[in-house]
Amino acid sequence: MFEIDLYDGLVTCVKTGSEMNGSVVMWTYAYLIEDTLIDAGCPNASKEFQEFVANNPVRQVYVTHTHEDHLGCCAVLAPEAEIYATRLVADFLKNPQVLPDFFVMVWGQPEPVQEVLPMPQRFEIGDLSFEWLPLPGHTDHMIGFYEKERGWLFSADAVPLPSRKQLAMPDENVPEMITTMEKIQKLDLNILFDGHRGPVEDPSQYIQKRIDYLKDLQASIKELHNQGKDIPEIQENLGIEAPWYVDMTEGRFTVDHLIKSLLLDEVP
Ligand SMILES: [Zn+2]
Repeated sequence: MFEIDLYDGLVTCVKTGSEMNGSVVMWTYAYLIEDTLIDAGCPNASKEFQEFVANNPVRQVYVTHTHEDHLGCCAVLAPEAEIYATRLVADFLKNPQVLPDFFVMVWGQPEPVQEVLPMPQRFEIGDLSFEWLPLPGHTDHMIGFYEKERGWLFSADAVPLPSRKQLAMPDENVPEMITTMEKIQKLDLNILFDGHRGPVEDPSQYIQKRIDYLKDLQASIKELHNQGKDIPEIQENLGIEAPWYVDMTEGRFTVDHLIKSLLLDEVP
């Protein structure tokens, strides 16, 4: 599925997602400013994205991280657009990993991109000047794009979409995610352009809610651990129930990872 929302006269929110029983499973946001795109949606929307760019040319794409819902349409945009990414993301774009069936259904399988250019430290779009910032935690390589004058941050998945995150991926470092959110708070933003929520205005409270929840959860996990409880017992004590689809992710999302990460991971 594919939807366009104009925002603030300058930014076009390009929403992509997969359809299930007539509604979208989850939207992911790419952002178009003039002829420059930040992230590139999910692969299942490739055809619709291609139709959109026929009338709205995209010349540059800047990619935040390797997840399929953020770089999925690069392959159909690449003939006309230059794709920019950091090295690890570039490697993935050229040689995307084969996803479990569940994620092929939810987002789609990315196709390889032939040519990827190195991410510049800064780039301009009209009067806007962007620099990239590291936003580690969700993945260790994720970056965001910051426009200082306007107080804008294109934050990809740095701020968890549910305010009460209950699952994590094996390569997520949740304590580092908290530290990254605290750094984002110091930027004093006017708008957070989130990868799944869309633009969040005056986002300080929105972000703080997620920091507070994860810090409280971490304190509870550590306390239960100190009482000698193991991971399943901690999960039971906290009343965290895995959602119905968790087994279908084939280990890519689990409650276990969340608890272990909050208990054991250090912020590098
Ligand atoms: Zn992601």
